[in-house]
Amino acid sequence: MNRTEQKTVAKMIYIYCAAKHGSTKALCADCEELRKYALKRVASCKFGEDKPTCQKCPVHCYSPQMRDRIREVMRYAGPRMLYKSPVLAIKHLVKGLQKNR
Ligand SMILES: [Zn+2]
Repeated sequence: MNRTEQKTVAKMIYIYCAAKHGSTKALCADCEELRKYALKRVASCKFGEDKPTCQKCPVHCYSPQMRDRIREVMRYAGPRMLYKSPVLAIKHLVKGLQKNR
């Protein structure tokens, strides 16, 4: 995962937390946990920046519980930040999450 993707994930969680949990500057405890988890998982992806796509990745980056939470964040925040973030980064992330639907 590159820096752009990491920023994208963090930003989506901020948008989500601000809207759903009323957070202003810092994330609430739950969302902070989610952010750390997500960044750690994607940062440790063994394919690094050369990976084909998460869809083909044999490694399960997210536990089912965390995947559900991330998916909810993306569903909410994704459409709200498309205009200011690289579309590719989001497409890549969403693709990876759809694999075990
Ligand atoms: Zn929150």
